[in-house]
Amino acid sequence: MKQNFAVIGLGRFGASICRSLVAAHQDVLAIDISEERVNALADVATQAIVANAQDEDTLRSLEIGKFDHVIVAIGKNIQANILVTLIVKELGVPDITAKAENNTHARVLARIGADQVVHPERDMGERVAHHLLSPNILNYLAINDDVTMAEIKISSPEFVGKSLTELNFHQQFGLTVIAIQHGNDVTVSPAGNNIVQLNDEISVVGSTQAVDELNDRMM
Ligand code: ADP
Repeated sequence: MKQNFAVIGLGRFGASICRSLVAAHQDVLAIDISEERVNALADVATQAIVANAQDEDTLRSLEIGKFDHVIVAIGKNIQANILVTLIVKELGVPDITAKAENNTHARVLARIGADQVVHPERDMGERVAHHLLSPNILNYLAINDDVTMAEIKISSPEFVGKSLTELNFHQQFGLTVIAIQHGNDVTVSPAGNNIVQLNDEISVVGSTQAVDELNDRMM
């Protein structure tokens, strides 16, 4: 489904969002106060405009309120970031993602109506730390505080050469196996007769504690 996105602030974060959205065939309006930053994305974005997004009239004339999603990716200038988020909210944008520099900033953004508040440096730091501590967890998604989906590498001999029925992750750990990846082959909703091999990547969902227990067994 093609949607309209406006990305305000074309630093590393905003530019990367722009490129990813365009690669996914979406329409992207890219806005920055710096001509240099706008020029760098002129050939990528659907439209790239030099503008001060803190100026409400400018955002109105760009009809920002008609966009499906607006990403406020202004970084270091927290005041500008908050003000722009407030203006796009008031102009009626239905879905706003704003980048926070710190926890207090994140709280302010949530309060004024940002639908998603992202904290890229902190989030990435958490992921890197998590990966260093649990190298067999290749990917994870905290569904809420208690439930996690994780992609775990089979690195312990105790799991190798056994079928899913034999391993019975459900009974043993309370985890549901939703996919198995062997090399480049992915089996979604794998049947019980699938044999688990060394270095296979299994995707499981269940309690965060259960995911931790399975991970501990891989160490
Ligand atoms: P990053 O860490 O993602 O590189 P930066 O803070 O370096 O973030 O980049 C933010 C971008 O936002 C810069 O390109 C800057 O020119 C732009 N910017 C800052 N204030 C405004 C504003 N009022 N209107 C539009 N763009 C702005």
